[in-house]
Amino acid sequence: MAEFSVVEMAMRQIDRGAEALKLSENQIRLLKCSKRILRTTFPVEMDDGTIRLFTGFRCQYSDIRGPTKGGVRYHPNVSEEEVIALAAWMTWKCALVDLPYGGAKGGVICDPLKLSERELEHITRRFTAEIMPILGPDKDIPAPDVFTTSKTMAWMMDTFSMFAGYTEPAVVTGKPEVLGGSKGRKEATGRGVAIITREFYRAQGKKLDGCTVIIQGFGNVGSHAALFLSLMGAKIIAVSDQNTGLIDKNGLNIQELMNCTDRNRCLEPYIGATHTKPDDIFDVKADILIPAALENQIRKDNADSFQVGAIVEGANGPVTPDADEILEQKGIHVIPDILANAGGVIVSHYEWAQALSGLYWEETEVNEKLEKKLVSSFNEVWRRSQNLKIPLRTAAYVVAIARILEVYKYRGIFP
Ligand code: NAD
Repeated sequence: MAEFSVVEMAMRQIDRGAEALKLSENQIRLLKCSKRILRTTFPVEMDDGTIRLFTGFRCQYSDIRGPTKGGVRYHPNVSEEEVIALAAWMTWKCALVDLPYGGAKGGVICDPLKLSERELEHITRRFTAEIMPILGPDKDIPAPDVFTTSKTMAWMMDTFSMFAGYTEPAVVTGKPEVLGGSKGRKEATGRGVAIITREFYRAQGKKLDGCTVIIQGFGNVGSHAALFLSLMGAKIIAVSDQNTGLIDKNGLNIQELMNCTDRNRCLEPYIGATHTKPDDIFDVKADILIPAALENQIRKDNADSFQVGAIVEGANGPVTPDADEILEQKGIHVIPDILANAGGVIVSHYEWAQALSGLYWEETEVNEKLEKKLVSSFNEVWRRSQNLKIPLRTAAYVVAIARILEVYKYRGIFP
């Protein structure tokens, strides 16, 4: 059971950053202002001829630093609260890694695993049409998130283009390469999680070689984080998806697991590891835990039981503020989401820039730029954390908040 709503969580995190920066009430008010939310309910004809109603949201939390940017999620637990919190986190993330974006998030309440491809396409196209007035390459640019993919982005891009009357590849990121998607975007978030983990180890004078890792969630972020960490020499000893946990203390074969999820959309049919309930992987002792599924996974009621050295947040909001305090007391470092999973939005920014310019980059160029950006962002957060003797999350908020308030200083408050 959650001790906070996700919005309260996001606001508590801002409070900790604000405290470290000794901000005024006025400054805090600016940071806690969620600019706009569009809620829509729309009908979709299902494959069997019945008409079902779906509800979706798009929140644009802040556009003070540029057009808003953020994913679209399809999940039964999507809510107005959740998209506001996720849009707030996108705002701090884009500021932290210094992208010219504000933050947004969207979602539709549905269970995509129980829908056909045609039904998903119709939901996507109708949802895009409903939020059309606030979308656009200079307004708000969606990307994939939980249970949405490059195919979802292709449908969104096509729907937007049909209404606009011209082809607009810059309206979404994370689309297929043939539509102007960036090389390296699919892997970028997981690659970033691995790079940040490596830098965290390096900052402490340690190596990733041979260290053990548990990963919750084996979708886009979790599977690619597993792949790149294993290529860096780490041993992935447990993974889960929403129905299955897999444990192998000798190390799982990540490429085989990815082949399994590509074929079956789940881990369940995989043979060659101990099968458990998803949350049982939390009982495994390891050097690193990467939650890469949903928010609110590590809470006051379970934080004390983890036997890991560090938690790297692949997902957005997996650790609650109360759990943060417990983990801090236990000496478990938490590398915050707005830094650890920023690789995705960084390469989304490259994709947007490529689409706007019509010039496309080689994968090595994308990956080199990503690496450079993440390493410098990590160093900045690490330095703040060491100098001010504050946890990494607070340090990340200090950097992000300072950048946002600097923009307010010059732009002022309209009118
Ligand atoms: P995805 O849909 O590709 O994968 C989600 C995975 O989580 C699936 O394997 C699913 O089965 C699993 N899952 C769901 N509930 C679970 C549970 N209770 N226990 C264990 N596993 C569970 O989604 P994704 O794109 O990988 O996103 C995962 C997280 O990363 C989300 O919090 C998302 O906001 C965040 N994120 C994604 C990106 C991106 O580029 N896709 C970027 C930044 C952050």
